[in-house]
Amino acid sequence: MSEARVVLVTGANRGIGLEVCRQLASRGHRVILTARDRSKAEGAARAVQAAGDIVPAVVDVTNARSVQALADDLAGRGEHVEVLVNNAAILVDEGQQILRVTPEDLRLTFETNVFGPIAISQALVPAMVARGYGRVVNVSSEAGQLASMTTYAPAYSMSKAALNAFTRQLAAATRGTGVLVNSACPGWVRTAMGGPGAPKTVEQGADTIVWLATLDPKGPTGGFFSDRQPIAW
Ligand code: NAP
Repeated sequence: MSEARVVLVTGANRGIGLEVCRQLASRGHRVILTARDRSKAEGAARAVQAAGDIVPAVVDVTNARSVQALADDLAGRGEHVEVLVNNAAILVDEGQQILRVTPEDLRLTFETNVFGPIAISQALVPAMVARGYGRVVNVSSEAGQLASMTTYAPAYSMSKAALNAFTRQLAAATRGTGVLVNSACPGWVRTAMGGPGAPKTVEQGADTIVWLATLDPKGPTGGFFSDRQPIAW
C-alpha cells in the first residue's frame, strides 16, 4: 500500500463486507464500517477492531433519508471518503423463475442491489472527483454475467447485470478524474448468502475487492474482475 485512505463499506456487519473491512484496516486504511442497524455496525466494528482503524456508521442503502443522513454524519465528522465498496445486497429469489417472481421481490432486490449503490455513489463520488482521487468497487456476481445467464435467481441476476451497467456508466463519467470504478465477483463464498457448501472462505472472497479498492493510479476502470482477472460481462 502506498498511502492510507478513508474507505467506506456498505453491508459490512457480516460476510464478505466485514472481511473487506478487516483486510483494509490491517493494511493501514481508515475504515468506515456501515450497517443498516446501528448496534450491528457497532458490534461488527468492535469484533474486528484489532485489525486497525475501524469506525462504525449507519446506512440503509434503500432509504434516501438514511443515505443523506450518512453523508451529513460524515461531513460532521470531517471524513472524506476516498474508497467506496458497494457491498450490501440481498438474494431473495433463489429457486424462483422469471415468469413467477413477485413484483415485491424484484423491487426490493433492485432497490438494494442497484438503486442503493447508485444513491451512495451519487452522495460520495462527486467529492472524490473534486479531490482527484477515488476508488469505487461494485460487488457484483457471476450471476449477473449476460454471457452465461440462464434461469438462476432472476431478480438477483438481473440486478447484478444492472449493477455492472452502472459500473460502466460511472467509470465513463469519471474517466480521467483520478476515480477508478470496477465490478468485482467474489466467487462463491461461505456466508449467510453463499451458504455452508460454498468453496471459498471470506478471506478469499474479499481478495479481488480489496485489490480493486487499492488500485494504483494506472489501474483499470470500467472492468469486471474475478480472482483479479477480467471476466465477461
Ligand atoms: P451476506 O452475508 O448476506 O451479507 C449481506 C450484507 O448486506 C449484510 O450485512 C446485510 O445486512 C447487508 N444489507 C442487506 N440489505 C441492506 C440494506 N438495505 N442496507 C444496508 N445493508 C444491507 O452476503 P455476502 O455473501 O457477504 O455478500 C456480499 C456481497 O457479495 C453481495 O453484494 C453479494 O451479492 C456478493 N456475492 C456473494 C457471493 C457469495 O457466494 N456469498 C457470490 C457472489 C456475489 P443485514 O445483516 O442487516 O441483513
